[in-house]
Amino acid sequence: MSHKTLGLDSQLYNYLLSSCLREPEILRQLRWQTASHRMARMQIAPEQGQFMALLVQLIGAKKTLEVGVFTGYSTLAVALSLPPDGKIIACDVNQEYTDIAQQYWQAAGVANMIDLRIAPALETLDRLLANGEAQTFDFAFIDADKENYQGYYERSLQLLRTGGLMAIDNVLWGGRVANPEVADRHTQAIRAFNHLLHQDERVTISMVPITDGLTLALKRGL
Ligand code: CA
Repeated sequence: MSHKTLGLDSQLYNYLLSSCLREPEILRQLRWQTASHRMARMQIAPEQGQFMALLVQLIGAKKTLEVGVFTGYSTLAVALSLPPDGKIIACDVNQEYTDIAQQYWQAAGVANMIDLRIAPALETLDRLLANGEAQTFDFAFIDADKENYQGYYERSLQLLRTGGLMAIDNVLWGGRVANPEVADRHTQAIRAFNHLLHQDERVTISMVPITDGLTLALKRGL
């Protein structure tokens, strides 16, 4: 997987960043701290954080969902773009990574908007559905274990309102999805997921080649 946009040479990538990136200082600090982490490749690229922040503003999101927090960069990028009464339900299983996330959310003054649920995300999503929260979310970002993508997608789709937007990360998987010689279970899971979405008439889709590939799925009214 990639933590910068695939397929751009470094000269062009650096140009893209230098001519477009408006990264708040707190996000820059979090990105630098996370860069030294052994799982740093799990972090989204800053141009993707900025893109998602734009999407959230574009649809006027107030209530959002995140599946896969890691050290909280994407959560923070979204939180900084929500109105003051905005809310994020953030799902992860890792206390160590999300402790870092919470320090930065506090420092940025958005911790009160973020409800972190440390539990398997499928359980958290099922609980939200059981609590009657279907059709109440404006935006969802899916960026966790790839073998459960389909399960996260189906539940998140129910949780989104009509016209709500889902963004699903790593759909190009460092280019491995396109290599017929690669057949590990993560790659297979992403291929199967991409195929499913291509056929799914419940959503309007676009596969955006930013960072490691980000599919956007807008929930249609049926
Ligand atoms: Ca990712």
